[in-house]
Amino acid sequence: MRHARADAGADSGDVMELLRDRGLRMTPQRRAIVAEVMHTDGHISPTAIARKVQGEMPGVNASTVYRTLALLEEVGVLAHSHLESGAEYHRSEEAAHVHLTCSRCGSEDALSLAEADSLHALIRTHHGFEADLTHFAIGGLCRRCSRLHAAG
Ligand SMILES: [Zn+2]
Ligand SMILES: [Zn+2]
Ligand SMILES: [Zn+2]
Repeated sequence: MRHARADAGADSGDVMELLRDRGLRMTPQRRAIVAEVMHTDGHISPTAIARKVQGEMPGVNASTVYRTLALLEEVGVLAHSHLESGAEYHRSEEAAHVHLTCSRCGSEDALSLAEADSLHALIRTHHGFEADLTHFAIGGLCRRCSRLHAAG
């Protein structure tokens, strides 16, 4: 199933247009949420967005924030992945990486898809399975924690 994708680098105005095309009424709350999302670089945490928007506009329901984020994913502006800390969103054009999360200290690192390519190819060759390695983080120990671990 494919949805119409937003152009990479779409701004708040384009995104609001996209939502309006889907029959959504652009309330001041939704505008504030979209603007906040489009100003956020890197990982977009639903709770952080809710906190910021509620700071600027008291009375915005957290569920309105979550629903708007889900809609932004439906129209192709955002993509989610599951990290140690829970599900977070990325701007779609920034979503192409594999997360490594340390289960001991919580630090995060990432592999490019090029770095993950041999694992992807191995899974396809042996299982005929087309893995989406960007969706779930790979858990384990970071360099620092695995050294501490080895040192006992
Ligand atoms: Zn990420
Ligand atoms: Zn998911
Ligand atoms: Zn660690």
